[in-house]
Amino acid sequence: MFNGIAAAEKAGFAPIKINTVLIKGFNDNEALDFARLAFSKPFQVRFIEIMPVSEVNASQPEAFLSTNEIFDRICKHFKLEPLTGKRNKSDGPAKIYRVNGGLGEIGFINPVSDHFCSTCNRLRLTADGKLRACLLNDVEIDLREALSRHCGDDELAGLIREAILLKPQRHDLDCTDRHLKKCHRDMSDIGG
Ligand code: SF4
Repeated sequence: MFNGIAAAEKAGFAPIKINTVLIKGFNDNEALDFARLAFSKPFQVRFIEIMPVSEVNASQPEAFLSTNEIFDRICKHFKLEPLTGKRNKSDGPAKIYRVNGGLGEIGFINPVSDHFCSTCNRLRLTADGKLRACLLNDVEIDLREALSRHCGDDELAGLIREAILLKPQRHDLDCTDRHLKKCHRDMSDIGG
């Protein structure tokens, strides 16, 4: 992995973002290692909360680690300075901090402990042709069926509109009482 990152750095890619999901009892002991990486390299390390997508993640609520907990652990060793304002569209919903005295940044994305549904503008087209409005809701609109019978543009636009209207105001996950709702399809099926 590091060879690939080094090659990207050498080729001048910027910013180089490293997304990581810390899982309690599995790799959460690496939080500081990732923070050190952001200190010593001009990378943006982003911590993303594990989401109850697929049977595996949803069946292990004890594995959940909030970004607040990760933030607190890192702040015992590094000073993080919040960067306000959107500098880059690709920052997405991440809250970004500069690592004081270091070269890189750390981002936190908290789709479970908080939510950013009101600004979510994503639709996902699955590999089997379904349009999905929300990662955490299994309702899908079947575009493949319509396209396979050569539907017109108006019908297609109507189906896309239908999918957009399915976007929830907010998800109903609650990481405090562990009533995490399942999404049955794997992230690789949904499209990330
Ligand atoms: S609408 Fe769904 S996919 Fe978008 S941020 Fe909310 S939970 Fe995530």
